[in-house]
Amino acid sequence: MNMQAKLASALAERQAQHLYRCRKVTTSAQGVELGVAGDNKLNFCSNDYLGLANHPLIVDAFKRAADRYGVGSGASHLVCGHSAEHHLLEEELAVFTGRERALLFSTGYMANIGCVNALMGRRDAVFEDRLNHASLLDAGLSSGAQFQRFAHNDLADLKRRLNKTEAHRRLILVDGVFSMDGDFAPLVELAQMAADHEAWLMVDDAHGFAVLGETGAGVSEHFGLSQQQLPVLMCTLGKAAGTFGAFVAGSEALIETLIQEARTYIYTTALPPAVAAAARASLEVIRTESWRREHLRQLIAQFRRGAQQLGLTLMDSQTPIQPLLIGDPAKALQASESLFEKGILISAIRPPTVPKGTARLRITLSAAHSTDQVNHLLSVLSEVI
Ligand SMILES: *Cc1c(COP(=O)(O)O)cnc(C)c1O
Repeated sequence: MNMQAKLASALAERQAQHLYRCRKVTTSAQGVELGVAGDNKLNFCSNDYLGLANHPLIVDAFKRAADRYGVGSGASHLVCGHSAEHHLLEEELAVFTGRERALLFSTGYMANIGCVNALMGRRDAVFEDRLNHASLLDAGLSSGAQFQRFAHNDLADLKRRLNKTEAHRRLILVDGVFSMDGDFAPLVELAQMAADHEAWLMVDDAHGFAVLGETGAGVSEHFGLSQQQLPVLMCTLGKAAGTFGAFVAGSEALIETLIQEARTYIYTTALPPAVAAAARASLEVIRTESWRREHLRQLIAQFRRGAQQLGLTLMDSQTPIQPLLIGDPAKALQASESLFEKGILISAIRPPTVPKGTARLRITLSAAHSTDQVNHLLSVLSEVI
């Protein structure tokens, strides 16, 4: 078989299993009403949890910085691409998360890969929750450290593994909020376990940053975890912060180590300065517009009450991620298509993004939704599911 034929046959196989992935072309700014191929859909699958991706103040900051700095950053941070906007954003992120320093990366994926690889090597061991995000799993695997996955949120399983290890450095690595389930990792207990076993704790807060905690600082604020208890904190800026990029926050020594050793930091072009300026404006909105978090909490409660009344099976989630478990990928796809025909956009999440047999509709709520829109969602779900 030649290359084309080989690839075509693997693709056909994927299609037959209902695991083929397709992109929808959007034709408007991100928002709860999203243009899809020219048609407006009510959007319940974005990670723009606070509705900031098209916030006027943030858009304006982006435009003004583009006028001043242009578009491209020109080089990596260590050559000549580290602008005043990047630098100020890092300082503000460190203060916001209550850490000594913060370091910007171009994406969360790169931050995870770079950070774990800078910290861990062959003599070391990485312990990851089974449901961790793909970027964390890839980070652990590519580090060359001994790689172990423990059962989801199973402290006893993790403890057994920690007791047995003789590795030099030990890193416990988890999502703060699990991206496809919406539940929390037991971070207080994990921090204690890390301390008891001389392990380091790293948390990926892609889904908690800006959403959780009194001021929006994320899971570390929600659980009250200091830099000492949670020494490696990774947050992304492309989700609730509504912009793009990511950062790692922690001690002076951690950040300097990453600047020297994280290959996905060193060997890549810095984010456009205007993106950093937009993130600074977003940070200001996150801090000051606490009504967004409050409204979101009310919508989550409203949705869960309504779904329970309809007899839908919800997962144990207090976050804007409210998945409806379907199981079979073909059925999940079908449900997503029926919703789409009725004007509602919710994508079907299938293996390997989630474990086999747990295909689902990953419903996400945003502070930009109204109570009427959530009621509408519930009534359409009751027809479709
Ligand atoms: C989205 C996501 C990432 C990747 O962040 P990007 O900035 O989109 O690359 C990492 N971890 C988790 C848990 C995520 O959900």
